[in-house]
Amino acid sequence: MDPIPKSGLYYPNKIVLLTLQALEDVMGKNGLNAILNLANLRELVDNYPSDNLKREFDFSDFSAINGALEEMYGPRGGRGLALRAGKHAFEEGLRNFGALAGVGDLAFKVLPLKAKLRIGAPAMAKVFSQTSDQYSTVEEKEDHFLYRIHQCPVCWGRTTDKPACNMATGLLLSGLKWVSGGKEFQVVQIKAKSSGDEACDFMIFKKPIE
Ligand SMILES: [Zn+2]
Repeated sequence: MDPIPKSGLYYPNKIVLLTLQALEDVMGKNGLNAILNLANLRELVDNYPSDNLKREFDFSDFSAINGALEEMYGPRGGRGLALRAGKHAFEEGLRNFGALAGVGDLAFKVLPLKAKLRIGAPAMAKVFSQTSDQYSTVEEKEDHFLYRIHQCPVCWGRTTDKPACNMATGLLLSGLKWVSGGKEFQVVQIKAKSSGDEACDFMIFKKPIE
């Protein structure tokens, strides 16, 4: 894989640490080391980012890990691993962050599902905008929310033939489950910077999966 030039945009260390731990869980230490080698990130072998929220992990390095996953395991296998890592990162880390803190409160839990999504989806976007350089916005449409990642760490500096920011999809899936009190939603990525669009767009359908 060709190295990706540094972006000057950063993800918090903790999210990267959780991502690497989730990948190591599934593929073992040797498997993850192979991914890090392929991603030109040998310095991370046995030297994961610290467990803190400092914005120190460059988007291009995060993107390289995602690219290496797809290269080594193929689009389908890579997608499964990336979804799993994204879900883990949300469950163990992001749900405890400021903008989402109220989601566990009784007052939030008794809201109707529609209201939960209307508050929860922008709250998720806010968590990323506040804790990292991943600026995200949400627009409500008739049957879905349009979740837009304007600066995406998953595909930064890469080219893909179709949208494949799977780790971001995994984070969203877990986030929606959390804000809705356990429901599953369909999330479809319709645009990606890596496939020539101006941003990475995800449709979050309002109707939960039965
Ligand atoms: Zn992307």
